[in-house]
Amino acid sequence: MLIVQKFGGTSVGDLDRIQNVANRIAATVKKGHQVVAVVSAMSGETNKLVGYADHFSDTPARAEVDMLLSSGERVTASLLAIALSEMGNSALSMSGRRAGIVTDSVHTKARIDSIDPQYMQAEINKGNIVVVAGFQGVDASGRVTTLGRGGSDLSAVALAGALEADLCEIYTDVTGIYTTDPRIEPKAKKLDKISYDEMLELASLGAKVLQNRSVELAKKLNVNLVTRSSFSDEEGTLITKEENIMEKPLVSGIALDRNQARISLAGVIDRPGIASDIFGKLAENSINIDMIIQTRGHDESTNLDFTVPMNELNDAKEIVESFKAVGEIKYTSYDESICKVSIVGVGMKSHTGVAAKAFKTMATENINIDMISTSEIKVSMVILEKYAELAVRSLHSTYALDQ
Ligand code: ADP
Ligand code: ASP
Ligand code: MG
Repeated sequence: MLIVQKFGGTSVGDLDRIQNVANRIAATVKKGHQVVAVVSAMSGETNKLVGYADHFSDTPARAEVDMLLSSGERVTASLLAIALSEMGNSALSMSGRRAGIVTDSVHTKARIDSIDPQYMQAEINKGNIVVVAGFQGVDASGRVTTLGRGGSDLSAVALAGALEADLCEIYTDVTGIYTTDPRIEPKAKKLDKISYDEMLELASLGAKVLQNRSVELAKKLNVNLVTRSSFSDEEGTLITKEENIMEKPLVSGIALDRNQARISLAGVIDRPGIASDIFGKLAENSINIDMIIQTRGHDESTNLDFTVPMNELNDAKEIVESFKAVGEIKYTSYDESICKVSIVGVGMKSHTGVAAKAFKTMATENINIDMISTSEIKVSMVILEKYAELAVRSLHSTYALDQ
């Protein structure tokens, strides 16, 4: 089999752990498989580099940030190739460029446009283990780009798709996908399988165990995706098509996103096209909007409330303030003390009362719900961040996920 194995930051967190990863890959190769490894930067490294850039500027050029951040993954890729070679394997490392990953030019959150796996394929055919630096590609003009935080997951899935690999294994510091973050609720249970759609919701709603775009792509390309631990041999969680899962729980998991901020606009001029103008401008700047609520104001104006990821708040602020400057919005306010708690499950499609149960749980805990949004398979609530863990644990028990 051709297997893409991705190792996250903790799994390559120090030199001993890189050796541990090398041993794992060598063992897979010994079983007769071909391996393409994709690696993250050593844990903490990307944050450290972000801090370095922030030392010099509040608004460093994004292209420079990408040049800087992409270095973290190169360090681990080359070290891993050296360790593998030293053990007698033929291995070599590749940057995103050499791996043929071409992206758009949206620096720090680029999207993959195409992959030309010819160099990788040639090395695989020669019997080499290819180690690819995750999280990065180049744009059409050849400048280095990065794929957004957690982006090595996306590199792995995209390469698995391009190489038509039999399996894509994401090695991390937990043994699989749990009913909620096991660091918040120790009673969380590991799932044997989860559908692409549920995983996509969980990942988009804050469960950082997989980057959301990697799940989206895995679904699109039908990649066999498994999440498991690099520190044990325990079976992981298979992310697969809904029809491959016999038992469909009502609720599969609870996600928490602490990195959300709320933007409230009041006295928004009420004219056709205003929402399109504001959200169009935000979209043009690749800002991810969620949970939009529009309500009628006292006079002829309207109010608009929505959430954005915390690290996109400054960009979003600049845009909404420009509407305020020309008198189309009267008041703006920003709230960083909120979080978003969500329950996810395909079973919701065919059952009623799931959302009501969540609201009742919040009421019992005396937690005020600020905003609500629902889709076919999820219910999200914005609450004060200080209640985040209490809300997650209470919901986990409401839906008997610890049973
Ligand atoms: P890596 O560095 O390997 O990419 P991440 O830190 O990005 O790892 O993701 C793994 C972390 O995701 C776990 O340590 C865990 O705290 C967190 N997590 C959040 N939600 C879940 C969940 N539902 N199941 C498992 N882990 C989760
Ligand atoms: N090193 C990058 C990050 O910390 C990418 C990744 O680990 O997936 O976000
Ligand atoms: Mg990750």
